[in-house]
Amino acid sequence: MKKLIELKGITKAFGGQVVLKGIDLDIYENEFVTLLGPSGCGKTTTLRIIGGFEKPSSGEVLFNGESVADLPPHKRPTNTVFQRYALFPHLDVYENVAFGLRLKKEYQKMPAKAREALIEQKVSKYLQMVGLVGYENRSVHKMSGGQQQRVAIARALINEPQVLLLDEPLAALDLKLRQEMQYELKEIQRNAGITFIFVTHDQEEALTMSDKIVVMNEGEILQVGTPEDIYNEPSSRFVAGFIGESNIIEGIMKDDYLVHFDGKDYVCVDYGFKKNEVVDIVLRPEDLDIVEPGQGFIEGIVDSIIFKGVHYEIDVKTPERIYTIHTIKYHAEGSQVSIVFDKEDVHVMEKW
Ligand code: ATP
Repeated sequence: MKKLIELKGITKAFGGQVVLKGIDLDIYENEFVTLLGPSGCGKTTTLRIIGGFEKPSSGEVLFNGESVADLPPHKRPTNTVFQRYALFPHLDVYENVAFGLRLKKEYQKMPAKAREALIEQKVSKYLQMVGLVGYENRSVHKMSGGQQQRVAIARALINEPQVLLLDEPLAALDLKLRQEMQYELKEIQRNAGITFIFVTHDQEEALTMSDKIVVMNEGEILQVGTPEDIYNEPSSRFVAGFIGESNIIEGIMKDDYLVHFDGKDYVCVDYGFKKNEVVDIVLRPEDLDIVEPGQGFIEGIVDSIIFKGVHYEIDVKTPERIYTIHTIKYHAEGSQVSIVFDKEDVHVMEKW
């Protein structure tokens, strides 16, 4: 894959407040990249710097190996879809999508008949891509949020950018529609064959759609990886806590392969920590299981059980803490149980 965008040491301060503290990131052709992090961590500012709406305080943005410092947004190979779609309410779907083409000088110079034919061909291609064929003459204010979102995407894609920037575009939709649109957006990205850079604070959205997730916090990148990498091998307690649910427990390294927590030593994979170093242990609820008392590692009592559809969410109380466990077998509240897990699922992280 070819490198398309490079962010090199990007910092940004607003007044005295530093909101980006040195962002380095490579983005490739045809990637679906998600910037994920809590509110205020600097995702939108990063996206706006890529789009040229904001200048970095220091550092460089390169497109195809060349600095774009002097290029305003409309001269960059990017297009942006904002959370509020900013469609033109007085225009129908067709004219909303055609709008960008009508602004282009090369279209304005063409003979009217040829121009209209070309516009029609392109509008039809992109309406097809977003699943809105047949809606050409609909006025946009009579459409649902999800449909308006698709119009906004078609309107951005018709300019044939190399990169589409999307700032929380699904945030205004209800849960069911948002989930549907997650799959569709990924499909649209594949069909368009371009790079999408997507901003969200929703971890499920990021895991569902992305080829690559960039986890940010307080103006820094904490981890970059595939959804599987980020979920299975979070590099810090923050990432583990932000993506998916976790039991996070303080422990102490006894040896390269041995960590002590909750009163006992446990074998783990070698994470390269020093002997006697205090660490955080991350145990995912779905990696824990419940067996008969005395048969597992940690003894406890079922404190609560909630049916979640595909599994039960069970809280087991031990003398030291409560463990949350996802398992398909029912265990009554108050019953004595024992918790087990594999050594590969004992994730050891630097103490936060
Ligand atoms: P959210 O999900 O809430 O949009 P975010 O991760 O996208 O958060 P940013 O919007 O990039 O975060 O904001 C990062 C920080 O920069 C915030 O503290 C915000 O208040 C501040 N900030 C952003 N834009 C400006 C601005 N134009 N002037 C001053 N401060 C700003």
